[in-house]
Amino acid sequence: MDKRKRYRELVNLLKKYSEQYYLWDSPTVTDAAYDELYNELLDLEKEFPTLKASDSPSQTVGAKATGKFAKVSHPYPMLSLENAYSEDDISVFWERLKKSARGHRVDLVLEPKLDGLSASLTYKNGLLVRGATRGDGVVGEDVTQNIMTLENIPRKIVAENLPEEIEIRGEVIMKKKDWQKLNELQADSSKKLFANPRNAAAGSLRQLDAEVTRSRKLTFFAYALVARKQVFRTQMEILEALAHYGFSVTDKISVCQDQGEAFLFYSQLERQRAELDYDIDGVVYKANDLFLQQEMGASSKFPRHSIAYKFPAEKAETTVLDIVLQVGRSGNITPVAELKPVTVGGVVISKATLHNRDEIERKDIRVGDRVVLQRAGDVIPQILYPLPEKRPPNAAPFIFPDVCPCCGSGLAISEAEVAIKCLNINCEAQIIEKLIHFASRHAFDIEGLGDGNLRFLFGAGFVRTPPDIFELENKRLQINLENMDGWGSQSVENLFASIRRARVMTLDRFIYALGIPQVGRSVSKLLATFFGSAAQLLEYAQDEKLNELLTIEGIGPAILQDITNFLNNENNMECIRRLVDQVAVSNMGIGEDGPLAHKTIVFTGVFQHLSRTEAGELAEKSGAKVMSSVSAKTSLVVAGENAGKKLDQAQKLGITILTESDFLKIIGIDS
Ligand code: NAD
Repeated sequence: MDKRKRYRELVNLLKKYSEQYYLWDSPTVTDAAYDELYNELLDLEKEFPTLKASDSPSQTVGAKATGKFAKVSHPYPMLSLENAYSEDDISVFWERLKKSARGHRVDLVLEPKLDGLSASLTYKNGLLVRGATRGDGVVGEDVTQNIMTLENIPRKIVAENLPEEIEIRGEVIMKKKDWQKLNELQADSSKKLFANPRNAAAGSLRQLDAEVTRSRKLTFFAYALVARKQVFRTQMEILEALAHYGFSVTDKISVCQDQGEAFLFYSQLERQRAELDYDIDGVVYKANDLFLQQEMGASSKFPRHSIAYKFPAEKAETTVLDIVLQVGRSGNITPVAELKPVTVGGVVISKATLHNRDEIERKDIRVGDRVVLQRAGDVIPQILYPLPEKRPPNAAPFIFPDVCPCCGSGLAISEAEVAIKCLNINCEAQIIEKLIHFASRHAFDIEGLGDGNLRFLFGAGFVRTPPDIFELENKRLQINLENMDGWGSQSVENLFASIRRARVMTLDRFIYALGIPQVGRSVSKLLATFFGSAAQLLEYAQDEKLNELLTIEGIGPAILQDITNFLNNENNMECIRRLVDQVAVSNMGIGEDGPLAHKTIVFTGVFQHLSRTEAGELAEKSGAKVMSSVSAKTSLVVAGENAGKKLDQAQKLGITILTESDFLKIIGIDS
């Protein structure tokens, strides 16, 4: 292709990808794919310098701010970082620093390259007055309200000699565990999943409703301080001051004067990468001396005193042993590649989702193929592409069946035209998945009723619907579970004990456990607050008053339709009625109106019906504040069996002591 044409094509393509990445937080290509195109562009610019356009991504930072937020001009540009791809690149950088230092000693500060989005915080007279994103480096977005919701950002800095106005810069990140939790919630409410913690952080900070940002658990790590008159001499002094002002600063920081040490730090950090609780994608090397930094200056895109040495993308090659189809609880068919186990970034991967039929067809992945695997955002394994040159001659294209692999019913393409669904509500795979969901952690949380045991009980014909679970113990003599393969009297005893504990349930968990499409944990909470009791839920369904749910903020016609379809089904209604006979569903008031409003409560000992977590959740929903230790401020102590020190302390302080059943009565559950 004509080089000029290819050059323009690359500029336009990279600009489009940058918009998707920076503005809409929805990249459509991986970072590795983006970097490959970017490097092709750099090569062309090197070969044909006259081609270089002023709007080239090599000359610009990020992407122009959208109209979504008010715009903020940065008094000092927020730049990107030059990339190093090899130790040689670092040596060249090192020489550049030494040359600029004219014979003076050069200290390098080594910091992890945090994988989030950069933010600038302005403090006037010590008070936080503005938070902004980087935008295109010159103009960013005003996200002050959202920044204010981050718990680890100090609102106020108290320090001697603080300049009247300072700007603190750093990275807003989402910790890996918070990203996983967020994605679980998103999946529960059938919302978009975030491909990695970086996208989740960017999507969560750039929300119009700051309350959404607050609910997302973001963390800020500070690494720079900018002021009209710099009061520090080195980057290390800045990092120390930032920590002293109350900012979080990563503890993986080092100073060195020697290239060997710099490389050692890189390889050590790369090895620790998978274990850190936040994502990093390389090491940033910075001149420690701020005077030297100033002398070296910057290009339009990056400062000359720093460089980012990125870690290679964590990739591995392996073989697809099989492609199996999984049937989800709502009938969605998901193809999953079973892989020859391979280690990627310290984790053994043996399975990877292929998402849907389109994805298999687009990538043309076949059983027997050698494939390249990548852990996106360090966690989810993803098959990037097959290697056709290594394909065995008999590897045939994967043909997506047109019938359900479990029940043989015809499959349908869902409205969104992506998911393929089995519509047979009696499909056994779906029934088992629904039962697994019913007993899962955020639903009835029945220990001992995981995937394997439920499949066994279903196969043996003992459990076909959720209420059957609560009838198991009554049929104990008939079914004689103790004597079955894989069971013993202790495991049966434990199972019945956890089923008994599950007989006390909050209404929101009860609703969530039903597995109504689009009704995840947050919608279940909204419904629980609206209905107030399981009896009311049944009444609304019977009296055909479900349209009133539209008055709830957060419930629109699509969710209403799924709820109505579910409750219009007589089998589902029968299941709810039977469950209500078996389970005490709490119908307490919520929060401020709850029976324990403004009370501080401590749980101690072992309870018959509740786990500590359940007890805590119930108490909080009834308005109480749950504490772990007893003090003069404690209003109530609920003591179970083997209660020890806390009970003694409560007695000494004359605090009201309740039994588990007193507690249950107060919150409206008749045990
Ligand atoms: P960058 O993210 O590679 O590096 C610069 C940024 O690093 C700084 O702005 C700062 O926010 C951050 N940083 C983290 N830790 C730091 C520390 N300790 N000190 C200083 N800065 C630190 O550069 P960029 O210009 O923001 O983004 C370019 C990269 O983004 C590309 O290489 C590509 O991987 C990715 N990208 C991907 C797509 C896509 O579609 N997938 C599109 C555009 C960009």
